[in-house]
Amino acid sequence: MEEKVLIFGHKNPDTDSICSSLVHEILDKKNGWENTKAVRLGNINKETQYVLDYLGIEEPELIEKIEPGQGVLLVDHNEFNQSVDGIENAKILGVTDHHRIANFETSEPLYYNAKPYGCTSTILFEEFKQFGHEIERTEAILMASSIISDTLLLKSPTTTEHDKKALEELGKIANINIEEYGLEMLKAGTDLDDFSEEQLINLDAKSLNKDGIKFVIAQVNTVSIEEVLKRQEKLEEVINAKIESENLSLFVFAITDILNSNSEIIALGSKADVVEKAFDKTLVNNRAFLEGVVSRKKQLLPAIDKNI
Ligand code: MG
Ligand code: MG
Ligand code: MG
Repeated sequence: MEEKVLIFGHKNPDTDSICSSLVHEILDKKNGWENTKAVRLGNINKETQYVLDYLGIEEPELIEKIEPGQGVLLVDHNEFNQSVDGIENAKILGVTDHHRIANFETSEPLYYNAKPYGCTSTILFEEFKQFGHEIERTEAILMASSIISDTLLLKSPTTTEHDKKALEELGKIANINIEEYGLEMLKAGTDLDDFSEEQLINLDAKSLNKDGIKFVIAQVNTVSIEEVLKRQEKLEEVINAKIESENLSLFVFAITDILNSNSEIIALGSKADVVEKAFDKTLVNNRAFLEGVVSRKKQLLPAIDKNI
């Protein structure tokens, strides 16, 4: 059997990483490219599980590393430190992504579709249009779910006109009430009770590296910041352990209120003062409240990156 080309999003996969991988495979089939296969680099989170259950589809297969020369298609990321183990020696055939380009290189030419949109699925939505393919219900719901997740129902400052237009049309195709469906989906992802603190800080964590300075920005969505802060002491314990074991200069844990669009951050590490400069705030009890901040990509990361 011909070897499959693997499609995957980043480690600690979010809804966009999983759903866009699945949609990419569907789009490939419509383009007559039969041997691509969506896989995942980590556990399915509860929000994404809601989507898969809603559609009654199986989660993609988990892979932990790849062999040299393996053909791959990346979605929703490009940085090697967010990708699969062995990515350096993979044959990267294409990237569909909406993030900055960093820590990335290939030895061969490739398809690279980057757009500064709110979501990878919005790029895929426009590809369906460009190729003239009909969008069916399954891919409509997958793409809508990604957009809802990445833009927090179009409320994040990462949202573009492209995302709004795509979500509106996808809602019609899927015949669902986007507000209702979206809120249920987002809420499913905020049920944090049965996660340990160790799991919480790793649920949606991005590892970053600036000139050898290693830092992590992790994020959880909630409908009650207070509820999560009850666990601050234990959270700090596991964050400090991670700082120690991974030699990090900074760990930022953002607790994002999806209903009111604010975040409380816990910042630890030798460079914790960076967040004070970045947001013009004083850390009190290692915390700061950031009004109107919900986006790691557009708000947290650029400000921290500039000051680190
Ligand atoms: Mg993502
Ligand atoms: Mg995304
Ligand atoms: Mg995200």
